[in-house]
Amino acid sequence: MLGIDLGTTNSLAAIFVDGQTQLIPNALGHVMTPSAVSVEPAGTVLVGLAARERHATAPQDTALAFKRFMGTDHIVKLRGQKFRAEELSALVLRSLKADAEAHLGHAIDEAVITVPAYFNQLQRKATQTAATLAGLRVARLLNEPTAAGLAYGLQERADHTTFLVFDLGGGTFDVSVLEYFDGVVQVRASAGDTRLGGEDWVRALLDGAMAALNLSASQREQLRGNGLALRAAEQAKRDLSERAQTTLQLPGFAAQPLSRDAFESASSELMLRLRRPIERALGDARLNSGELGEVVLVGGATRMPMIRHAVARLFGKLPLRTINPDETIARGAAIQAALLARDAALEEVVLTDVMPYSLGLGIVDDRFSPIIERNMPVPVSRIGRYHTVRDYQTKLDLDICQGESPIASENLQLQRVSVNVPPLPKGEAMVDVRFSYDANGLLVVDIADVHTGEITNVVIQQREHELVGEALAEALKALDRIKIHPREHQQNAVLLERCKRLYEDRLGAERMQIQEALVAFQNALDGQDPEVIARVRGQVQSFLDEIDRGFVL
Ligand code: AMP
Repeated sequence: MLGIDLGTTNSLAAIFVDGQTQLIPNALGHVMTPSAVSVEPAGTVLVGLAARERHATAPQDTALAFKRFMGTDHIVKLRGQKFRAEELSALVLRSLKADAEAHLGHAIDEAVITVPAYFNQLQRKATQTAATLAGLRVARLLNEPTAAGLAYGLQERADHTTFLVFDLGGGTFDVSVLEYFDGVVQVRASAGDTRLGGEDWVRALLDGAMAALNLSASQREQLRGNGLALRAAEQAKRDLSERAQTTLQLPGFAAQPLSRDAFESASSELMLRLRRPIERALGDARLNSGELGEVVLVGGATRMPMIRHAVARLFGKLPLRTINPDETIARGAAIQAALLARDAALEEVVLTDVMPYSLGLGIVDDRFSPIIERNMPVPVSRIGRYHTVRDYQTKLDLDICQGESPIASENLQLQRVSVNVPPLPKGEAMVDVRFSYDANGLLVVDIADVHTGEITNVVIQQREHELVGEALAEALKALDRIKIHPREHQQNAVLLERCKRLYEDRLGAERMQIQEALVAFQNALDGQDPEVIARVRGQVQSFLDEIDRGFVL
């Protein structure tokens, strides 16, 4: 069984073998597969690094960061083909599945897939649908912070411990407080900022550098949207995680020295924004920072020393970061997969999560009546009793919704259900509404008429923007019809896209050299001699590496 981290920027797959987690390399030999999909003019679909490279030259044909619209009916059109977030995610999952099958030499049809702790019903359902479309059965949807906790083996500690998972990725920031006690891991609270991530530090670095150059407002605007400038800033940011000094080369300007100190001052506002989610998560868990056993750092952006220092200052202890922060969640997912498959090397751990939000009904006067409250351990099942408010009323309308507002219409409406009730004086016709929320975060609702005993079952899935029944079968067929760029030719596709990107970026003599390389490589591909292709590919690759210092995986 695979463990999969289906991320906003990158996705990873891992397995548990011989008592250890092992990441699965893709066709390029990389363990990270960019969550990117691009459709070529001929209709062939690129997934992963080739697609992300293609984003530079064909942004209108390329989808990135689609995890952000999971559970919505947002449609992306790529060269006339329409995709929902589930379908794009399914293409990424299919690619990870194919890589795992090639690596392990056998078919795989089951996985543990991680989701953010704050993912709601619709987002979780959409993740399951993506897996179905990819031919994977979901053994468990696992909350990302719980996966991080498992990766650090916090469940192996003898006694009661609490820990905070600090996850700063490319575009999002999540904080969760977890508790381990008596063989049970619980997410006690989670909070976050969905608009704060490593990309903001890139922008801050660029803004700081532009301020030092005294650029005009229009020059700044232009550079902020310039791919080359953003890549240079990204590289400088990464350099400054390793050393105190680097140089930044913005297109059209002389290289300028940049210090870590200057970068840190330019990021001071961003650093302040980290505080609120931390305070909320600790407040919800009724803990103060001194009571935490451990702090775990996850997400590529926690490599920045300023983050580690701030965390150490805030919590008065050094955070745990022995596992590569990009890989932690996938490794945790693989451990959960092994636990479900009962790997003998793992002691039995029971994992429970808590409800990330309240679920209840919208009733008269637009009031919200919670049935399952936020932060209850799951799985959980609770009943609420509701009665009629008018004499001889024959129908009860119940709005199943999720959220924390006392006003029902301000919460997320999951589904409206109407049930018939016997005509009786007001208050006498009654129903018992049972909400059952399972370990995957999926909700089932049963409504029992107190007088007749009749039960109505509702599975929360008949939303129009959800793929079910025939629409799901259709989507599956449509995905099967798509021509995916062959796995064994991935390297070639990546190199071609990279040549095109650099050609677009550069000017003058360099541009001509790139074109020559592109033509030579295209000729080699047309010649179809694998040895020649491999040789020319090697040469072109080294040439590009030389001129493209800012190339980051
Ligand atoms: P993730 O979404 O967890 O893959 O995190 C990706 C983010 O981590 C991106 O914003 C990267 O720029 C950032 N990142 C990766 N490596 C480093 C590094 N060495 N120093 C600073 N940021 C990094």
